[in-house]
Amino acid sequence: MIIAQFVASAVVFVFLLFVSAPYGRHYRSGWGGSIPAWFAWLFMEFPAFAVILLFFIFHIRNFQVVSFIFLMLWETHYIYRTFVYPMVVRGGKKEFPFLLVFFALIFNTMNGIINGQYLFAMKQYSLSWLLDVRFILGTAMFLSGLAVNIWADRVLRFLRKPGEKSYGIPRGGLYCYISCPNYFGEIVEWAGFAILTWSPPGLAFAVFTFANLAPRALANHKWCLKNFPDYPKDRKALVPFVL
Ligand code: NDP
Repeated sequence: MIIAQFVASAVVFVFLLFVSAPYGRHYRSGWGGSIPAWFAWLFMEFPAFAVILLFFIFHIRNFQVVSFIFLMLWETHYIYRTFVYPMVVRGGKKEFPFLLVFFALIFNTMNGIINGQYLFAMKQYSLSWLLDVRFILGTAMFLSGLAVNIWADRVLRFLRKPGEKSYGIPRGGLYCYISCPNYFGEIVEWAGFAILTWSPPGLAFAVFTFANLAPRALANHKWCLKNFPDYPKDRKALVPFVL
């Protein structure tokens, strides 16, 4: 399954460079039935929240403090993404293709299985791992990425009044340098998780996150340049000063 996830990352990356995923500003007809975006987020992210929790509960006899910290970090992100984000997002009545929800359900289930199995059933982490430089650096990356992701989502949210569906130019903070700080934060977050767990499934997830979000950042950036005549020309798409 880990190998499958690496292969899927390569396929998804190349595909998305040519075809933007048809949701949000890139939504278009011809991709089958759709559901409201807020419900799509809740539904498709739920397995990411639940599967790893089930693995933790099923393997509770192996309880380790370190694994519990991994679970808390993971669930902090997914409680936000599954239960908070869909409730506060503005424009969440827009359509979201069910086909994408279906793919996300498969991915989130598979990703929960490989991470849950590895972290709670296969691998033993001693308490001294908490003082390992990989844990400290990875946790710092995870928490700062999470903070950037939540902050950037929030800036976008407040560009709209409740009920509005129009687009504006986000400004301030990392938006001075890149078009998609929310994706940047998410990529840093899961790269941090891969480092703090030092695990093959963590790496597979981080690689997939990049493969999924980097092409989308390029597509969003291009969209902004095309649709806002006064869009700042020195802004990059995803990585400040680089990409
Ligand atoms: P976007 O930045 O495309 O959109 C986020 C929200 O902000 C949407 O509601 C969107 O509305 C709105 N929005 C975006 N730009 C503007 C603007 N200029 N003016 C007003 N409103 C705007 O992000 P995604 O929807 O792709 O992703 C949402 C979150 O999910 C992100 O934090 C992302 O990191 C995460 N994510 C993680 C993935 C992973 O692989 N781990 C995969 C995909 C997303 P609208 O929908 O109408 O465009």
